[in-house]
Amino acid sequence: MRGRQVGARYSAFGLLRRGLTRRDWPPAWRHHELARTYDVVIVGAGVHGLATAYYLASRHGITNVAVLDKAYLGGGGSGRNTAIIRSNYLTPDGVRFYDRSVRLYESLAAELNFNVMFSQRGHLTLAHNDGSLRTMRWRAEVNKLSGVDSEVIGPADIKRLVPYLDVSPETRYPILGALYHPPGGTIRHDAVNWGYARAADALGVQIHQNTEVTGIDARDGRVQGVQTTRGAISAPIVVNCTAGWSSLVAALAGVRLPISTHPLQAAVTEPVKMFLRTVVVSGTLHVYVSQTDRGELVFGASTDPYPSYSMRGTLEFTEELAGHVLALMPSIAKLRLLRQWAGLCDMTPDFSPIMGITPVEGFLLDVGWGTYGFKAGPVAGEAMAELIATGKTPEIISAFDLARFAEGRLVGEKGAAAVGH
Ligand SMILES: Cc1cc2nc3c(=O)[nH]c(=O)nc-3n(C[C@H](O)[C@H](O)[C@H](O)COP(=O)(O)OP(=O)(O)OC[C@H]3O[C@@H](n4cnc5c(N)ncnc54)[C@H](O)[C@@H]3O)c2cc1C
Repeated sequence: MRGRQVGARYSAFGLLRRGLTRRDWPPAWRHHELARTYDVVIVGAGVHGLATAYYLASRHGITNVAVLDKAYLGGGGSGRNTAIIRSNYLTPDGVRFYDRSVRLYESLAAELNFNVMFSQRGHLTLAHNDGSLRTMRWRAEVNKLSGVDSEVIGPADIKRLVPYLDVSPETRYPILGALYHPPGGTIRHDAVNWGYARAADALGVQIHQNTEVTGIDARDGRVQGVQTTRGAISAPIVVNCTAGWSSLVAALAGVRLPISTHPLQAAVTEPVKMFLRTVVVSGTLHVYVSQTDRGELVFGASTDPYPSYSMRGTLEFTEELAGHVLALMPSIAKLRLLRQWAGLCDMTPDFSPIMGITPVEGFLLDVGWGTYGFKAGPVAGEAMAELIATGKTPEIISAFDLARFAEGRLVGEKGAAAVGH
């Protein structure tokens, strides 16, 4: 089966034909026996692991690849995030990197033959004080220099974009201005995960769910393979794409990461008629909100302040969230929350990812995605695939190497990544 395109092409005509003939769709990806050797083993079947596998196969013809996940595909942050896509970061390295991802997302539905529902509805980061306004201006200038559409706008323009926002000067945290980023928006995260999985599978990549990596074999400074709950696998390249669990998996290879793991929570309301087109973020109030195509309001905040591997929602989060959201939009006070959830975030000291080589040859990192890694899935996958295929670190990720922490070359993104994921 390897290397052969399988599965059905999705199209309106195909939908009609299957509807009329009552034929089932083939599974989007297949089940395989675990082989004892692969050219590349990717640990973690989130957007990063799946995108890396897809670009390895599609751009470089490397298909003897296994993606292993201890649970189910998209069960980590990639199926729990609030799906905000943007590139209005603070550092030139960050802006260039995330902008490439936005561009890949723009053509992803056509490339994967899967509707990922990318909605570039615009993204507003509110400034409630002079310090924030200064950072917004700084970001806008860095963005413009990289060709990214961002500008600082005043309360009147904000009100025009989001009529339900309270922009009056009498509020506890008056809105002084905002960074407006028209190409930003939201996407359907499950569709992205499923689209990459289906396309990678069709090209011959094997996806193994319920397969936990319990050990990494590294001898003489070189990776040899992995131990899993389904037996040992030998492979010359092992890629760590495990986000919230990344420091635990790196430790299996004897690599220490400057990462602490924090829960991040989100919540969603009952659906209402569409009234909020733009994504709205307030760093000062530690809250952001967007409205889905179904009409639900999706809320998020910054990470829980303590390191933990717990994925349970807390009442403290809901109470704080409700208070802060109502300070921004008092008119939604009667809306009911439907559910809340949490995921794990691997936070680095500079709020930028860690990508590339490690002191263990063949053991690669694509981690440190904190609260903002979903949007980076395509560009990270593309760059990691290039690194694996060529043995050379692509320029677009060279600033995010592990060595920067020892050498004092941090890529400080806190001003653009702390709350606005
Ligand atoms: C509530 C919330 C909101 C967020 N909002 C946004 C947002 O709006 N925009 C944005 O860009 N980002 C957002 N993020 C961050 C984003 O979700 C993550 O950065 C991103 O999904 C990480 O993707 P990944 O593929 O690296 O890891 P994950 O999707 O977390 O996948 C890692 C996988 O590794 C597997 N795994 C772990 N250990 C092992 C092992 N030993 N063996 C085998 N498999 C293992 C796990 O089961 C998991 O499936 C948010 C996160 C959360 C929790």
